[in-house]
Amino acid sequence: MLNTQLNKTSGINGFSNDEIGDNHLFSSLDTPMKADAFKLSDEEKKHQIAQHFTEIMDILGLDLTDDSLKGTPSRVAKMYVEEIFSGLNPKNKPQIALFDNKYQYNQMLVEKNITLQSNCEHHFLPIMGFAHVAYISSGKVIGLSKLNRIVQYYAQRPQVQERLTNQIANELKDILNTEDVAVIIDAKHLCVSSRGVQDTASSTITSYYGGAFSNPEKISELQSYIYNSHKF
Ligand SMILES: [Zn+2]
Repeated sequence: MLNTQLNKTSGINGFSNDEIGDNHLFSSLDTPMKADAFKLSDEEKKHQIAQHFTEIMDILGLDLTDDSLKGTPSRVAKMYVEEIFSGLNPKNKPQIALFDNKYQYNQMLVEKNITLQSNCEHHFLPIMGFAHVAYISSGKVIGLSKLNRIVQYYAQRPQVQERLTNQIANELKDILNTEDVAVIIDAKHLCVSSRGVQDTASSTITSYYGGAFSNPEKISELQSYIYNSHKF
């Protein structure tokens, strides 16, 4: 039954589920969630994930009585729910306070080299890289660290890089009440480097340029800040 499920032809251009994963296709800009995604408490989720992970390790032939391994299922469960997939739950969304743009600063603000750590939804392997975000104030400004928090929140989900880029951009547009938002992500996918084609050199770049940032001059100004200025 599991096998037929895994090999089922899907709705995305007639590709099989295996092909979808290996080509990193995705079906929706929203993270696909079940209607009852939060019916279980976090405690119950951790409990059940630990049980299932025990089974996976057991099937792989690992000795769960070994001192080094026996805590692994509950560590993985805690890590999934409280850390690397905590951004699935809206209750973990960062609280954002806005401030008046007192200095009347009306040029672009760029927060670059935000550390990005996410996980690929097709293989559950890490995506690691940098996010660069920029906006032009429409009257309000946001605390700089909140830009990092927004990136982090959406990164802490099983992701595809294109969706992550758009989710961060949409959140910034909503909060800052402006279309003038840009997001660039440059990241390595461990599912490309450690398996499959095993390419350790390539990285993937995705971008969102909204409002004023669709002007080529603004794009090259932004890129010059990101790629040309010195490192500290
Ligand atoms: Zn992958």
